[in-house]
Amino acid sequence: MTRDVDAAVAVLRAGGLVGLPTETVYGLAAHARNPKAVRRVFTVKGRPPTHPLIVHLPDVSHVARWAATVPDTLGPLAAALWPGPLTVVVRAGPDVMAEITGGRDTVALRVPAHPLALEVLGRLDDGVAAPSANRFGGVSPTTAAHVVADLGDDVDLVLDGGPCAVGVESTIVDLGGARPEVLRTGAVSASQLSSLLGAEVVTWSGDGDARAPGMLASHYAPHAAVLVIDEIGAAGVVTRRIPEVGAVAVLASTTGQLDAVRAALAGFDDRLVDLEPVGDADGFAHELYDRLRQVDRLGCAAVIVVAPPPEGIGVAVRDRLTRAAAGE
Ligand code: AMP
Ligand code: MG
Repeated sequence: MTRDVDAAVAVLRAGGLVGLPTETVYGLAAHARNPKAVRRVFTVKGRPPTHPLIVHLPDVSHVARWAATVPDTLGPLAAALWPGPLTVVVRAGPDVMAEITGGRDTVALRVPAHPLALEVLGRLDDGVAAPSANRFGGVSPTTAAHVVADLGDDVDLVLDGGPCAVGVESTIVDLGGARPEVLRTGAVSASQLSSLLGAEVVTWSGDGDARAPGMLASHYAPHAAVLVIDEIGAAGVVTRRIPEVGAVAVLASTTGQLDAVRAALAGFDDRLVDLEPVGDADGFAHELYDRLRQVDRLGCAAVIVVAPPPEGIGVAVRDRLTRAAAGE
């Protein structure tokens, strides 16, 4: 782990892989014009080659180097939200490698809001492909230590930019079709996009098919079983899904919720392990992946999660929880 930006740029230029801090999660970065480096990202992650990568750019002026045409809708979104946790899907320019696009005619682009990432990208003066720096299907990393724990020597250098400010992956909006459409929820909401564009922005509701190939039903999953409940009154309904042996962690926003879960699961009291409450939806997003990792470190058989309300970034947290739970 290092804070040496020059060393990170040198590794990228030489075709190596860098653990790169962003405001969403840590990325496994490769120079996006180097096919060998990008192929290694897929090998290290164990990611299917059909899952396209997001290209991270130093600023909006770089979009024209990657897009076939820059849609009119990009201007207001980039002005208001870049650098930031919004990825746009646009028609790909002719030189974008098939390794990046998964063979599609579109490419996903974003300018991340992290000072170290922006410094690296600015000095490289080019794009880096950077999926989350974890093995495919597992819990995303939100600290440099998570990256080292997951990837070890498979990553050439990890740039330590502290804990990620947002904590869940970027919102992805497809600007290539007739109407903008959110393909993945994140810190930027569909209604925020609607008001910036002065047009309705719908959220695509399909699963794991051609539109957003990375949106698998099962993803972000720890080893422990994830049991999601919406409200405390429902705690009893997970009773029959609790594994017969092993500790069961409880993740919630408040200590009041933890107490209520304990009350609803009285028979399991001696097996329950309270995790530090995460607070509001922003806190939930910020702490989510670290808490899921903690559950595995503690060797828990399951974690019961009291989901935050579906408002703001709570929508994205619930999306990730649903996919983490589908891993069972
Ligand atoms: P991540 O897994 O966080 O690196 O995000 C990559 C995800 O972005 C992919 O798995 C897709 O869901 C989405 N994505 C990237 N490129 C495209 C594209 N050209 N068209 C549609 N979705 C894309
Ligand atoms: Mg990922």
